[in-house]
Amino acid sequence: MADLSVLEGLIQALRRLPGVGVKSASRMAYHLLQHDREGAELLSQALHQAAAAVRHCERCYTFTTQAVCETCLDESRDTTRLCVVETPADQSAVERTAAYKGLYFVLMGRISPLDGIGPKDIGLQKLMERASDGVVTEVILATNFTAEGEATAHVLGEALKRRGVQVTRLARGVPVGSELEYVDLGTIAHALVDRRNA
Ligand code: ZN
Repeated sequence: MADLSVLEGLIQALRRLPGVGVKSASRMAYHLLQHDREGAELLSQALHQAAAAVRHCERCYTFTTQAVCETCLDESRDTTRLCVVETPADQSAVERTAAYKGLYFVLMGRISPLDGIGPKDIGLQKLMERASDGVVTEVILATNFTAEGEATAHVLGEALKRRGVQVTRLARGVPVGSELEYVDLGTIAHALVDRRNA
């Protein structure tokens, strides 16, 4: 039936979300249309606004609605230290420890050969430029302690060291296989304080 192509279009659009197959997409579409029209409108508006307004910070690459994010603009920050994290959620985890007052660089991903994600697909080049601005003296690699996070830390560490930047890595103590986002704050704070040369 041609008049259902609108519904089919919604299902196809929902399938673009990670981990959503045709079954889940259909369930979401039916739910919104049958039980939550208000939610459908809200979702539509929020997506439209976010897609139009959210961009990457020119300095740290995290999501922001301004050219430069609030953290990068904060003059009380120690501009000589740059903490590299995978996601904004990991940045929040480090931030909540209150043990770090430097700036950040958010990769917005991790190197993962199995998923076809290489150094070019994360902000490697931007990080290199950022770390060689003449102000940064130490880059702290705070990628996750997963296989991908470790591989990412290794690649970034080697590239940064070739540029003469001092590189440190969070100390062990953060459980192997874990993502910072889910690690308790005390453990992250200790791993920061006990960071070692990479
Ligand atoms: Zn920023």
